[in-house]
Amino acid sequence: MKCLNCQSTSQKILFSNCIDWEYNKGDQYNVFKCSDCGLIYLYPIPTIKELLSFYPSNYHGYKESSSKLTNFLINLNIKNRVRLYRKLIGKEGRVLEIGVADGSHFLLLKKYEDWDLWGIEFNNDIAERGRKKGLNIITGILEEYDFSNTKFDLIIINNLIEHVIDPVETLEKAKKILKSNGLVVGETPNTHSLDFYIFGKYWGGLHIPRHTFLFNQYNLKSLGNSVGFLVEINQKIDTNHWAGSLQNFFQSKRFLKTELKNGRTWYYPFLLLFFIPLNFFQKIFGLAGVIRFKMRKRN
Ligand SMILES: [Zn+2]
Repeated sequence: MKCLNCQSTSQKILFSNCIDWEYNKGDQYNVFKCSDCGLIYLYPIPTIKELLSFYPSNYHGYKESSSKLTNFLINLNIKNRVRLYRKLIGKEGRVLEIGVADGSHFLLLKKYEDWDLWGIEFNNDIAERGRKKGLNIITGILEEYDFSNTKFDLIIINNLIEHVIDPVETLEKAKKILKSNGLVVGETPNTHSLDFYIFGKYWGGLHIPRHTFLFNQYNLKSLGNSVGFLVEINQKIDTNHWAGSLQNFFQSKRFLKTELKNGRTWYYPFLLLFFIPLNFFQKIFGLAGVIRFKMRKRN
């Protein structure tokens, strides 16, 4: 097989027989690593039909949180996003978010600025929930959807590039529907991170079998460049993979296993909070669990 990023045919098996600790979906999977650029991927890559079947209706990304602590962290995150988008496109502009779920966070974004917000989501029931709230949510898959002449100032792909079956195709489509000088911004797990090095096959960022391709700042930058973007990458303080890794580890031990609600244990939010101080250090040393990228379309 050939690496999607650097075309190298040299790879090694990193973890074998990995399973889904969170939702018990799919089968057992092998995780490979490109020996040249370090891209990490599931192989064989699931088909789109298989991939869609890995998202149960209680997937955590589809649920509104009931925990006060999680809601507090979500609100902090929204404020950061508003600041970033303002800086990139100002107070007006057409924005598309891919894999938007029901887009309920659009309601929070709308409190701040008057952006023309569009979302696309493959799960029709979830998309419909967003439309019922008066949001502009399309049911579909980015790569297949015909936007005709609609062009965007900003495309958001938070926690998306690691979920698709062909990240090159995703970025190419995004480029096609961007205005000149338009931007793609997003976040993705970082395989050059302290938490990945510690937890290995239990790492929350693997999210087997829903994460198909996993990046570090170097191979993500070269992938973006090859599609025709100028890429900037920085590190994000995000403790989800610490919480997810510990949860995976405990779930793998019969005597520590607890019941999950929407793929999460009761102690998950506490872990999110507990690891924040350590994440500051990870960020300083360039080993944070999540990377944030900004890709500007080269005209
Ligand atoms: Zn490679």
